[in-house]
Amino acid sequence: MAGILFIISAPSGSGKSTLVTELRKQVTGVEFSISWTTRAPRGSEENGREYHFTTREEFERKIQAGEFLEHAEVFGNYYGTARQSLDDARKQGYDLLLDIDVQGAAQVRESMPEAVSIFVLPPTPKVLRTRLRNRSRAEGVVNEAELYRRLSEASKEIENYRQYGYILVNDILDRAVAQLEAIVLSERYYRNGEAIAVRSSRVLEVAGACRLENTRERLKPVLEAFGIEGNSGQQHLPFGDDPDDD
Ligand code: ADP
Ligand code: 5GP
Repeated sequence: MAGILFIISAPSGSGKSTLVTELRKQVTGVEFSISWTTRAPRGSEENGREYHFTTREEFERKIQAGEFLEHAEVFGNYYGTARQSLDDARKQGYDLLLDIDVQGAAQVRESMPEAVSIFVLPPTPKVLRTRLRNRSRAEGVVNEAELYRRLSEASKEIENYRQYGYILVNDILDRAVAQLEAIVLSERYYRNGEAIAVRSSRVLEVAGACRLENTRERLKPVLEAFGIEGNSGQQHLPFGDDPDDD
């Protein structure tokens, strides 16, 4: 494709949608691929805006018809990216951003190794739990079972971080948005020779610091908090019920 394909993955509640929304306000020329899903709309979500909501039957028909670039089952529901999104991006020449889970990202990398992949981490398990709970409260549906399910999946998803080219820790929102913007601009610069105006050296520096190979030290405490790397023998779940937590 003429444009660049960006993949962004993160455990649910890490702030990926928030980051993508902010990025789209700052950077033009990036289109967001609206996925298909069989899950029910949440809060103020509208069909055709956040997702194309559909039934399992219709989704399975689309799988059979080869309409998806990738698809996966996440939290008991199907999610998939329509090939049409990629075709449209190719025709128009814009960059395309896919917000997909680790399984879908692996499928896309297989067929399109040139894709730029970004993994977003929450700073700690406690922060992730608070964000998930706050989001549920804001949407007026606190479903403890669903919350627990998403939390217990988080560490498993984070284990895949090494497959991504860039890593963002979404602690302070403004900083994470600036890092995401820097990644997009620097990839345009390296791949298309697109000018980044006067801020160029700073942008390249910020993006470079987010490359997987440059994040080792910063990631260590985050990974340990999630029970990954150097802490594999720990017995307690990172999301244990601490009464002071929320
Ligand atoms: P995701 O798309 O990864 O599931 P959301 O973007 O819906 O996550 O974010 C989950 C919740 O966390 C939302 O209520 C959002 O407002 C909040 N949030 C996101 N990023 C931050 C941040 N950096 N600091 C504080 N709250 C955040
Ligand atoms: P949510 O239900 O919170 O919107 O999304 C749950 C998970 O599904 C997130 O990890 C999100 O990235 C992932 N997801 C959303 N759309 C797609 C898609 O088209 N394909 C795949 N594989 N995962 C998706």
